[in-house]
Amino acid sequence: MQNFQPIINDIVNETKRQKDKGKVASYIPELSNIDPNKFGICILDTNGIEYSAGDSNEQFSIQSISKVMSLSMAFSMIGEGLWKRVGVEPSGDPFNHLSLLEMENGIPRNPLINAGAIVISDILISNLKNPKSDFLKYVQGIANDSSISYDEKVAASEKRTGFRNYAAAYLIKSFGNLKNDVETVLDFYFHACSIRMSCKQLVKVFYIFMNRGNCLQNDNYLKLPQVKRINAIMLTCGFYDEAGEFAFEVGLPGKSGVGGGIVALLPNKFCVSTWSPGLNRKGNSKLGMLALEKLTTDTGLSIF
Ligand code: GLU
Repeated sequence: MQNFQPIINDIVNETKRQKDKGKVASYIPELSNIDPNKFGICILDTNGIEYSAGDSNEQFSIQSISKVMSLSMAFSMIGEGLWKRVGVEPSGDPFNHLSLLEMENGIPRNPLINAGAIVISDILISNLKNPKSDFLKYVQGIANDSSISYDEKVAASEKRTGFRNYAAAYLIKSFGNLKNDVETVLDFYFHACSIRMSCKQLVKVFYIFMNRGNCLQNDNYLKLPQVKRINAIMLTCGFYDEAGEFAFEVGLPGKSGVGGGIVALLPNKFCVSTWSPGLNRKGNSKLGMLALEKLTTDTGLSIF
């Protein structure tokens, strides 16, 4: 594999020159006071070699990126039956869009929109003994890092203001597609979104989607056909109503979160994460998108 250090150093310099860094998410009050000038990037290649620059050690709220991890855990536990509860079509809508069109008979269009992740949370709660701590252990285990944790303040902040998520959960419940009570499901969902990680920690978790289901320690978490499905969903549904633009500009499966994180991967080659809290109009990190476009264009490394 090539040495990614020069290109990521260039990327950091370029992001410093950008005047418009986007807007930090303010609808979750606890996220609104993050410094918009932060930028971190980390690449982990298939041989386990790490390249990083900028604020790559600083932890941030991963938010919707956690939806891929909960999908992965639920899928590995219940297998293909999962697709009876949630679909696999992109929604083309913002993450918190709430409409009956996004659900057919209470089946959310895909697991990476809020409605879909709420159903996945319900599946995990039904199948885990201690859902919140088992899920956190799952994530810590993949990354081999027990310092990864929930941010209780962020979870509480979202619980106070997450009216649309409550509305979505009750709508799904009315169709019979939530088995547990709404409070329990949303408590799990808000905690999953509140997980804090740095760019360096994120690439270790997403290494399993790049490396045929195996983590850096070579433990297996997913079967190969499951990895194919999750990567396909990331490519088509990972960036809200900007998934097409991300495929067009960057050309990698990935996932973003309103905390400003993005993680993406080229199967069998590398996994990359960026963090810059300013978002564009569609809710994706503005500088993160620019950085990843430069990375795949300058190196010629994308799935296309
Ligand atoms: N916890 C956020 C919400 O449900 C996630 C948003 C995101 O990162 O897309 O509103």
